[in-house]
Amino acid sequence: MRLRTVCLVLLLTMASATASSEEISETETIDCALVEQLSFNGTNANESVSHQVSLGPRVPGSAASSALRQSIKENLSGWAISESIHHMDGITLTNLFATWNPGAGNTVYLAAHYDTRPVAERDSNESMRDQPIPGANDGASGVAVLLDLARLIPSMELDHEITLFFTDAEDFGESASLLGARAWAENLSDEEADAIDSFILIDMIGDAFLNLAPSYPGNETLWLRMSEINDALGYSSSNSCTGTQGVGIFSTNTSYGVWDDHVWPISKGIPSIDIIDIAYGENASNWKGHWHTHQDTPDKVSAESLEMVGRMVELGLRSGSFLDVRVSPSVDNEIPIPEENEDTEVISDNNEIAIGVIIMACLLLIWTIIAWVYLADRSGEG
Ligand SMILES: [Zn+2]
Repeated sequence: MRLRTVCLVLLLTMASATASSEEISETETIDCALVEQLSFNGTNANESVSHQVSLGPRVPGSAASSALRQSIKENLSGWAISESIHHMDGITLTNLFATWNPGAGNTVYLAAHYDTRPVAERDSNESMRDQPIPGANDGASGVAVLLDLARLIPSMELDHEITLFFTDAEDFGESASLLGARAWAENLSDEEADAIDSFILIDMIGDAFLNLAPSYPGNETLWLRMSEINDALGYSSSNSCTGTQGVGIFSTNTSYGVWDDHVWPISKGIPSIDIIDIAYGENASNWKGHWHTHQDTPDKVSAESLEMVGRMVELGLRSGSFLDVRVSPSVDNEIPIPEENEDTEVISDNNEIAIGVIIMACLLLIWTIIAWVYLADRSGEG
């Protein structure tokens, strides 16, 4: 009897383990009716990229930088606008913020850097490496997406606060210095940081040959929701809301490490991700192609790519995917996060092996009990 009790306990444990693993893998799906409502316009965004590049390189402190801020502010009528000026590493930088529904709570930050790199250290022409890049993709593309979202957000009837954060001096200095985002985070109180539900950074997403994957560090819950959004839109390789197979520009089979403006909100415990394509150009390898060269021009950027990323963020807002992300702060703030998805698969494989071993052990015990009862009967011990 005791053996059978042990078996029963083991079987119940197995059942509850299976149930809890189903709870973990079960995901919310996107309401396909929301996809019908999307109205992000990639042509508008593409025109913004050309306009920004026509101003000249938007190096921190330059006239072009100031002209771009002025143009952004003129585009954002009805939004609460503010600027913050910081002196860091020998330069003066200006962060620009635009807020919709100020004071409504559950703030979602949508961020992009508006500055462009003052040097082109990866250009094939050595004599041009000390000249600033045009920054069509690395700078203008993210701003262009935020500006078309700014056109749509007032009509979305969202009941929470949304702040567009145009960061300065992301691309200043030898390596990614992220000065504007750093200055903002350093001046943020814990209370202010806790009031931010999520921080969605978009950077280098205009490449005509768009390829996206989760980047890390990044919040796992936000990446899971982005994956569902991409499934619904037909951008992953799953079946989309229309029932057709997706085009596969978003893949969760790979991931990469990226040090970008989002590391500063992460340091403040804010759930954050960076939507970024690190392979710029046709067949480009990671961190190669037109990145940080004078070839970063509007002809390498497409309205279609800008529209796909704009629709991802628009659907994220309409579906509430960027809200209530802080399920478990201790897990969300964990850095570094595993770089490879294989880690998760290995864990589930181990679970399956463990369950298999328990089933075999139980069967063996049951057979032993039957044999023991049978033999006991025959020998008159029952
Ligand atoms: Zn850059």
